[in-house]
Amino acid sequence: MNHPTVDPQLLREARDRARREHEEAKASGLKLDITRGKPCSAQLDLSERMLTVLAEGEHTTQAEGDLRNYGATQGLTELREIFAPLLDVRPDQLVVRDNSSLSLMHQCVSASFFHAPPGAPEGTGWAGQTVRFLAPVPGYDRHFTVCSELGVELVTVPMTPDGPDMDLVEELVAKDATLKGMWCVPKYSNPTGVTYSSETVRRLAAMQTAAPDFRVYWDNAYAIHHLRSSEAQLDPILEACEAAGNPDRAFVFGSTSKVTFAGGGVSFFASSAANVAWFLARDGFRSIGPDKLNQLRHLRFFESTEGVKAHMHKHREILEPKFDAVLRHLEKDLAELGIAEWTDPDGGYFISLDVVPGTAGRVVELAKEAGVALTPAGATYPGGVDPDDRNIRIAPTMPSTDDLDTALRVLTSCVVLAAAESLLADDDA
Ligand code: PMP
Repeated sequence: MNHPTVDPQLLREARDRARREHEEAKASGLKLDITRGKPCSAQLDLSERMLTVLAEGEHTTQAEGDLRNYGATQGLTELREIFAPLLDVRPDQLVVRDNSSLSLMHQCVSASFFHAPPGAPEGTGWAGQTVRFLAPVPGYDRHFTVCSELGVELVTVPMTPDGPDMDLVEELVAKDATLKGMWCVPKYSNPTGVTYSSETVRRLAAMQTAAPDFRVYWDNAYAIHHLRSSEAQLDPILEACEAAGNPDRAFVFGSTSKVTFAGGGVSFFASSAANVAWFLARDGFRSIGPDKLNQLRHLRFFESTEGVKAHMHKHREILEPKFDAVLRHLEKDLAELGIAEWTDPDGGYFISLDVVPGTAGRVVELAKEAGVALTPAGATYPGGVDPDDRNIRIAPTMPSTDDLDTALRVLTSCVVLAAAESLLADDDA
């Protein structure tokens, strides 16, 4: 954003319009919420057939036998075959678990305190040590709160259009053995929409780390969540790690939370043979087997990798117009003023909006006064503090297009009002 180019007269006129719109919104008793990236009902309806896809008596597979019982801890073979190509891993590297990949990430971090992952001396854990993770920012707030919950300190690194700033990442991990991990949302990143470049993937796989048990937490949550026909290509991390001679470098995560049901999907963990053995050993003390009947529902519902892709296309048909509606508003209301920048992602669940530095918190406050709930400013930074108070995450998936239209009108008014307060000397708002 280039503030010197902001035309004060243009901003003054926009401010006067925005004031009127803000007052009208306040008087109208709006109650809209564009905070979290949840699927909308129409998306959930796409998977409704899964609730009845299993008939009475349908509870076996050839490889695993009777699925109503304990066992098959790695997950159904046929389901692993369907999803492995979508996560760019081999079926033998893939574990299918119950809903929530976030719980698998939490489990991996917490288990490491008692049994460090392969690479560390046998029988050691991180307990009693200072443990730090790298956090590319802006990033996913729940990654950060897993760390604060478990006593892991976060070291931020800035995101670039190619992924995290790799010069800085390489420098930090080479010299600091307390850095044990790094969060990555490598495709359609939350919230910036960035997909890591081939060079970034290669460098993450090859970099020298002071900690022998350093792990890249490769949260590929949006691997198949395309919004446009121009689908981003992400290089396979496990292959890159093998090629670089660091086969145990990465833990891959994913889920069907935004493919089938956020509250009733399946999750994925994928890694090298040594890491999978480490994971299953830890997990075996927590559970005697996953919900294999839900895995069977997913298997029967999708039938093939192509079936998953066709299903994701239906999600795209619902979501693309919603993202377009948000982008139209941002373009129409803000582009000419030069007071904000935003992303136009090819996939994922978010649009990332950067407003005038120092005003994001004020924008959220003004929107709340007018009945529109936005994700708290700073949520995309550890501890909820954006040092520039600049970034706002917009989640367009859940509201109807009509509600999005209303919410965006309010949001852009608030961006203008906050910018005017900050940039216009004569502003008395
Ligand atoms: N990772 C990222 C990057 C996400 O955005 C989300 C959901 N917002 C999750 C993980 C949560 O996934 P799950 O539902 O599988 O726990």
